[in-house]
Amino acid sequence: MGGAHAPGGPRLPDPSPHPARLLALVALLTVLALLATQSASAAPPAPLVQLRGAPADVLRQSLAEGIEVRHYAVDGHAHPLARPGGLENVRAMMETALERDVDALVLTDHNSVRAGKHLRRIGPGPAPGGRPLLILGEEAGTRGGHVGLWSVSGRTRRDTRRQDGMAPVLALLDAAAKRQPRALTVLNHPAWKLGARWLRARHFDPRQPGPKFDAFEIWNGRSMLRLSTRRVIGEWEGLLAEGARPSIVGSSDAHEAAHIGRPATVVLATDLHPTALVAAVQAGRTYVTDDARVAFSVDGRLPGQILRQRGPTSVRIEIRGWSRRGGLLRLLDGRTAIVERRVSPGPFQLILRRRRLEADSDGYLRVEITRREMSGGKMGEVVGLVTAPVYVDVAPQDDFWAPPPAEWRRMQDRLELFPRVAQWSP
Ligand SMILES: [Zn+2]
Ligand SMILES: [Zn+2]
Repeated sequence: MGGAHAPGGPRLPDPSPHPARLLALVALLTVLALLATQSASAAPPAPLVQLRGAPADVLRQSLAEGIEVRHYAVDGHAHPLARPGGLENVRAMMETALERDVDALVLTDHNSVRAGKHLRRIGPGPAPGGRPLLILGEEAGTRGGHVGLWSVSGRTRRDTRRQDGMAPVLALLDAAAKRQPRALTVLNHPAWKLGARWLRARHFDPRQPGPKFDAFEIWNGRSMLRLSTRRVIGEWEGLLAEGARPSIVGSSDAHEAAHIGRPATVVLATDLHPTALVAAVQAGRTYVTDDARVAFSVDGRLPGQILRQRGPTSVRIEIRGWSRRGGLLRLLDGRTAIVERRVSPGPFQLILRRRRLEADSDGYLRVEITRREMSGGKMGEVVGLVTAPVYVDVAPQDDFWAPPPAEWRRMQDRLELFPRVAQWSP
């Protein structure tokens, strides 16, 4: 507030504060700082973005079961040991992550988990609002492809003595599922020649035989792949048309700190913890973004969830978001954009009720934001945000959508128990 002074006889306030007032101010600030530290150590870790202006209601949602999930931004693919530097590189990547609202960083060096020793020196995370959670991962590579792994306890090697003719990438995936059963398995950069041939429904749909990926990189941040995201989205739509439900992630693939967080996978998880993040990605609850945050739901179901409908009724679609850069928002029903709206920097909201285009068949709804931008020396439309779909299942139910691979694995484990129990029954 600026002081208003009567013309002619201004009485300017004394610019130096009174010593007593200064003391009181210092005391007050100390108490406030103490309170802040106390509440920070007691409160569960909050998404860092929440501290930076995005409305809180965009970053918290409820699963249909009433469980709260928060939007945690994860860069799931980074190579701190690609250049000389070791621990310093890890620290530099953490700093960039913090600047760019990244809540968790997965360190995925090529065929190496040596970053683990740096993680042990830095100690367990996260400090609330203080720095990103660091997760040890690996980019396990072999002839024909790279498998991204989040949350590992050791290296993954394929069994080279296998005689069953399984492709090296699938043998590696199989080894990962056995040795790192808690890890997330990601098909890395299918936009690149090393990866393209694995983006097929049969490598994600557990109803078909063979090892499965949980997720694929729909958007890889390397500049040479930036314009390939649209093409990969097209291939993904082909998988969805076959009923496969691969989880989507996007990551920087940073080889240096400057690239961290562009893009990031926002994971709708119960907690900022490796197990909770992996489980949420395996359940499909993600969107990939280099800017905006979005809370999207269809009749209360979130991205990655299935909405089961008795009949072809209308659905309530809710999109609440916040962005720094704006763009063109599209709501898609299958492959068709049914709503297009320009969004300006700041908060945005879209709430509508309508019937799906083919309301009596199974389908999905999803959201995208694109921008016009210079990329690769020319002006074009780039993808700035893409959400996983909310899947819609109409009667007859459970006839089209595949279960997520991790859920299927758990189901198989349980089924395996029954014959053993049966043997013991009289
Ligand atoms: Zn790679
Ligand atoms: Zn990589």
